[in-house]
Amino acid sequence: MTSTAPASADQVANCARPGANLAAAVNAVRRDLSAGGHVGLDEAETVARQLVRLAQHYGNHPFSPLEDVRRLLDVNRASFSRLLDLFGLVPELRHAVETGPAGKYWQNTLLPLEQRGVFDSVLARKPVFPYSVGLYPGPSCMFRCHFCVRVTGARYDSSELESGNKMFESVIDEIPADNPYAMYFSGGLEPLTNPGLGALSSRAAVRGLRPTMYTNSFALTERTLATQSGVWDLYAVRTSLYGLNDEEYEETTGKRASFRRVRANLLRFQQLRSERENPIRVGFSYIVLPGRVHRLLDLADFIAELNEAAPDRPVDFLNVREDYSGRADGRLSEAERTELQEGLFAFEERVSRRAPTLNVDYGYALHSLKTGADAELLRIRPRTMRPSVHPQVSVQVDLLGDVYLYREAGFPSLNGADRYIAGRVGPGTSLAEVVERFVNDDLRISPHAGDEFFMDGFDQVVTARLNQLEADVAAGWEDVRGFLR
Ligand code: SF4
Repeated sequence: MTSTAPASADQVANCARPGANLAAAVNAVRRDLSAGGHVGLDEAETVARQLVRLAQHYGNHPFSPLEDVRRLLDVNRASFSRLLDLFGLVPELRHAVETGPAGKYWQNTLLPLEQRGVFDSVLARKPVFPYSVGLYPGPSCMFRCHFCVRVTGARYDSSELESGNKMFESVIDEIPADNPYAMYFSGGLEPLTNPGLGALSSRAAVRGLRPTMYTNSFALTERTLATQSGVWDLYAVRTSLYGLNDEEYEETTGKRASFRRVRANLLRFQQLRSERENPIRVGFSYIVLPGRVHRLLDLADFIAELNEAAPDRPVDFLNVREDYSGRADGRLSEAERTELQEGLFAFEERVSRRAPTLNVDYGYALHSLKTGADAELLRIRPRTMRPSVHPQVSVQVDLLGDVYLYREAGFPSLNGADRYIAGRVGPGTSLAEVVERFVNDDLRISPHAGDEFFMDGFDQVVTARLNQLEADVAAGWEDVRGFLR
C-alpha cells in the first residue's frame, strides 16, 4: 500500500488529547482512506473510528500489549492486522500518538531505542554494547539528602581513585563513536568529588563523545575549574537543584548555607563560559514537591538571574518533574492536580517573559497533566521486574568497576544492590565482556520485595516496554510488536 496524502486535518494529529474533536478526526481519516481507495465506502466510517481509537489509546497508554487493545476494539485478528496496516498510511495518526498526553514516553525513550534496534537485541538475547553507560566516579558526597538511598557514611576509599580512573578511561575508550551521547557522569555519589573528573571528560571529548555531568554543583567552584580544566570539555552540566534558598537546601541536603554557595558557583560558571566562549550547556533538574508548586515562580526568577550574569549565554535547559510519590495509589487528588496545573501555567508565563530561550522538559507525568490528561502511572513491582534486566540498554559503572544493572543501585553498601552487579570491569575484563557474559550465560536475578526502588524512571519505562514487547511476540504479533517503532 502507498501512503495517502497528508490531507487529514489538525483534528487527526490532535485526536489523542483530551477534548479533541473526535467526530472531525474520524471524518478526516475516513476521507483520506476512501480517497486513497484503501477502504470500501460501506466500511470507511467504522474503520476510521477504530483507527482514531487506536491513536487515542496508544497516545495515552503506550505500554498496552496489542492483544489487550484488539479485545478492546472487539475485532478479530485479521481485522486488527489490517487496522495496523491502515494506521501506518495516515501519518497524522502516528503524530497523534507521539504528541499525545503520553507522547514523552514515545519521543524521549521508546522510539530512539527502537530506531537503534536496542529492544530487538534484548528480545533476541543478543549481547551488544549498552546504549547508555553511566559512569559513577564520585567517591563521596557532601550532601545528605533525605530522599537519597545512599547509606550514611558509606563512601569509596580514596585509594580506589587511581585504579578507578584508569578503569573509567578504558570504558570511555570502549564506547562506540557512533553513539556520542551514550555516556554520562552521574552517581551514586557526587562526580565532582573525584579529582580526575576533568581528565575523564577530556578523554571522552577527544573520542568525540558528548557527556553530560549530573552534579549538585556544590564543588563547581572557580578553584575546581582551575585544577580540573577538563570540566570545560563536557557537553553539559546538569545541576540538581534542591531548593531556592538556604533554608530549603538545608532541609533537603542537611547542609547549612549550601544554596548560596551553589548559586555563587553557577553565577561564576555562567560568566566564565561566556568569557571563554565555551559551548558547554548549562541546565537544571528540579523536582516539584507537594506544597511547593508556587516555588516554580522563584525557579524562573533564579534562572533569569543566571541569564543576567551572562546575557549572551542564557541557561539552556530545565527538566521539571513532580514527586507526589507518597500518595497511596500514586494518583493526585483533584485539588493537587488543579494546583499543579495552575502552577505550571503561571511558571510558563513567567519563563516566557524572563527566560524565553529556556528549553523546558516536563517529563512524562507533568506533560500529561499539562495536556489535561491523567498520566499513565508506571508501577513496576518485583513480579513485573525482569530477571534478565536490560544491560543492552543501560548499565552503570562505579569506581570499583562494578557494573550495576539499575540506575539507583550504584551506591556503596546499599543493602541488596550487590545482587544487581553484572560483573566487574578491570584489567583484562572490558565492559563489553561483562555484558556478553551476563547475557550469554543467561544470568538472572530474582527480584526481592523493595528491589523496584533500584530502578529510576528510565529503567521503569524500559522494563514496561520490554514486558509489552514480549507479550506481543508471545501472542503472535512479532512483526508489529510494540505498535510504533
Ligand atoms: S541525592 Fe545526590 S547530592 Fe543528595 S546526598 Fe544523594 S548523592 Fe548526594
